[in-house]
Amino acid sequence: MADKEMMERAEHVLYKTYNRYPVVFDHGKGVHLYDTEGKEYLDFGAGIAVMGLGYGDEEYTRAVKAQLDKLTHISNLFYNEPSVRAGEKLLAASGMDKVFFTNSGTEAVEGALKIARRYHYNKTQGGPQAAGEIIAMNRSFHGRSMGALSVTGNSHYREPFAPLIPGIRFADFNDLDSVKALVNENTCAVIMEPIQGEGGVYPVTEEFIKGVRALCDAHDLLLILDEIQCGMGRSGEMFAWQHYGVKPDVMTVAKALGGGLPVGAFLACGKAASAMVPGDHGTTYGGNPLVTAGAEAVLDIFESRHIVEHVREIGAYLWEKLEELSAASDKICGHRGMGLIQGLEFTVPAGPIVSKALLEEGLVLIGAGERVIRFVPPLVIERADVDEMVKRLGRAIG
Ligand SMILES: *Cc1c(COP(=O)(O)O)cnc(C)c1O
Repeated sequence: MADKEMMERAEHVLYKTYNRYPVVFDHGKGVHLYDTEGKEYLDFGAGIAVMGLGYGDEEYTRAVKAQLDKLTHISNLFYNEPSVRAGEKLLAASGMDKVFFTNSGTEAVEGALKIARRYHYNKTQGGPQAAGEIIAMNRSFHGRSMGALSVTGNSHYREPFAPLIPGIRFADFNDLDSVKALVNENTCAVIMEPIQGEGGVYPVTEEFIKGVRALCDAHDLLLILDEIQCGMGRSGEMFAWQHYGVKPDVMTVAKALGGGLPVGAFLACGKAASAMVPGDHGTTYGGNPLVTAGAEAVLDIFESRHIVEHVREIGAYLWEKLEELSAASDKICGHRGMGLIQGLEFTVPAGPIVSKALLEEGLVLIGAGERVIRFVPPLVIERADVDEMVKRLGRAIG
């Protein structure tokens, strides 16, 4: 079997930090993936919430191909048009003042943390220099670099790499008193996901996000919202914080931003937008014309095809169908999320169900923690795809 040989070769060459499923994907079309033997899979994982437009969208592909022929990279020592156009559209969609393009979500988080530290440094210059402390949330996920890992609320991920960056304190998500208890004169920022993704799909409560915003205002702290997974329309608003009418000082995006090309961004507004100055931060690839042409195409398509409105409608349908599934199975004990980021919590480990769904039913799903299955499909799924998914998942649950 060609697949088996390829997987063996992969295990020989690729640094083993993943236990992969035994599938070699070859191509995709719409909301379906195909392995090297031509077997079809219905994709409700979207490459971890990346492929918002699905696979092989013609308009997107055309835009990226045109840029590929024209210019792919020049460095940030010069200007390029796609980054300006993508940046303008991202600012218009978010109401933020400035954007910096990165190569990944992790790097967007790094930039956001650097803004926080720089903001504190600017404020305390001339006075005693204590490290700016950042409050992060338990159960959060912000990435795997030393900085992003430092604010990731999962000690299992952090411990083997300690010591990480100093001055990080962890509060409990959706527990305002636990945040208040950590604020002191060196605190400079609070970072959180409006919907915790990897941690098990936990949406923020309105009371908490508004409370944290007020706390930040009262103590001159920057509120950093990580929209890498829940942003770009997935929650049913372009950015999840827009459900609550609070606005961050700094936000991060990535995943669905590039339609499959590696591009992220950190955005800042107000006092946070001018905290860093020339020389403070840089990247060789970040915001190159190829990936920002992809981001521009994604943002254009979001607008012309009313993707966010579609997410609201189809997200409500997914909710309804998962409620029915939950009611019918005693193995399901929780259902959370919004729009097209939803999770089902099981009374049994989710891993075997995800594996069975993939290998026996041709359904791609992603876990989130021990007992949660996460639904982060392409944003362009239709009702028939939801129906088909629920049918296949029902069989996999057994
Ligand atoms: C995926 C993710 C990241 C990390 O993004 P990478 O592109 O993998 O570096 C950070 N924060 C959140 C909320 C994420 O879901």
